[in-house]
Amino acid sequence: MHYSLTINGLDNAFPREFGCDCPRCVRPERAANTSVSLVGTDDDGQTVFHALIDCGHGVSDSLAANPLLRGERARLDWILLTHWHADHCIELGRICVGWMRTCARRNQPFARVRTWCREGSAQWLAREQGNAWRTFADPVIAPGFDDAGVALAPVPIDAPDLRITPITLHHNTADIAADDLMRRRPACAGFVIQTATHKAVLLWDMDNTNDWITNPQTDAQASAVALARDADVLCIDCNTWRFAGAPDRPASHACFYTQLPNVRALAPRETLLVHLSGHEDERGDGFGWTDEVWQAHAQLEWERQAMPGRVRVPKIGELILL
Ligand SMILES: [Zn+2]
Ligand SMILES: [Zn+2]
Repeated sequence: MHYSLTINGLDNAFPREFGCDCPRCVRPERAANTSVSLVGTDDDGQTVFHALIDCGHGVSDSLAANPLLRGERARLDWILLTHWHADHCIELGRICVGWMRTCARRNQPFARVRTWCREGSAQWLAREQGNAWRTFADPVIAPGFDDAGVALAPVPIDAPDLRITPITLHHNTADIAADDLMRRRPACAGFVIQTATHKAVLLWDMDNTNDWITNPQTDAQASAVALARDADVLCIDCNTWRFAGAPDRPASHACFYTQLPNVRALAPRETLLVHLSGHEDERGDGFGWTDEVWQAHAQLEWERQAMPGRVRVPKIGELILL
C-alpha cells in the first residue's frame, strides 16, 4: 500500500470576510477550511482507501478536484473529525450525500460512513449537524473527556501498515459541554499518522495553552510528545501571527509565536502552517496576509530563530507522500 496526504484546505473558519477588501479576501484562488485526505493506493495505482480528516467549507470541491479521488476512483472509508466546530464539519452532509449518490450510480450498496470523534464532539455534532450525523455517520466515539496531551486508543482502521493515534488538544471554544456552556468538556484531538516508513502529525485546532508539548507534566503527556516527535511532516494551527488573546478577547487558537517552542519540542523535518487567518490579528502584521506573505514571514523567522527543519504554507491539492 502507498499512502499520501492531499491538502483539501488550509484556511481558518473565515476564508473570506464579507465586505473586506484585504489582499487575502480578494485573492482569486479557491479557499477552503483546513482538511486533508489520507489516500491509500495499491501497486496498480488504484485508490483502495480514503480517510477524510475534517470536512469544513470548500472540502467537497477539493475532493472533486483530487485525481486520486475523481470519478470511479472516489471512495470514502472513514471520516475523522478533530472537533465539532462548523469549519471542520459543515460539509459532512454535502459530502456524504454526494458519496451516497455515487454509490447509487454504481449500483453499489451505501453504508453509513465510519466517523471518528471524541465524545464531547459527538454530543455537539448530534445537536449542530443532527441530520447529517444521524443519516450518514456510523459513529466511532472515543469515550471520555481527557485534558490535553493524552494519546487515545488508535482509530480502529483496518488498512495495512497504517496507524492513526489521536492526541487530545486544548481548544477552549470547543471544550465546552453541549448542554451547559459553563461546563468544560474537552472535545478536540489532533492525529499522529504512522505508515511503514513515514510519520505525519496533524495538530489543529489548538489554543495557546497546550503547554504539555514543551513541558509535559505526566507520563501520558510525555508519551504523547514522544509519539508526535520527529515527524516527517507536522501540520500545525497558526491562526494568527502575533495575537495571543487579550483580557476582553481570549484567543481560541495558537499564534505563530506560541507555536515556535512547540515546533522546536516536536522537531519535525517539515512544518506546514494551516488554519491561517487574515483578520484575527486585526491591523498590522498578519492582517490580510496571503499564503505567500505568511510563508515569507514564517521562513524569515525560522532562519532567524534557527528552527528545526523547513517551514512553508501548503497549497490546496498538494500531495505529500507518506
Ligand atoms: Zn477551526
Ligand atoms: Zn475549532
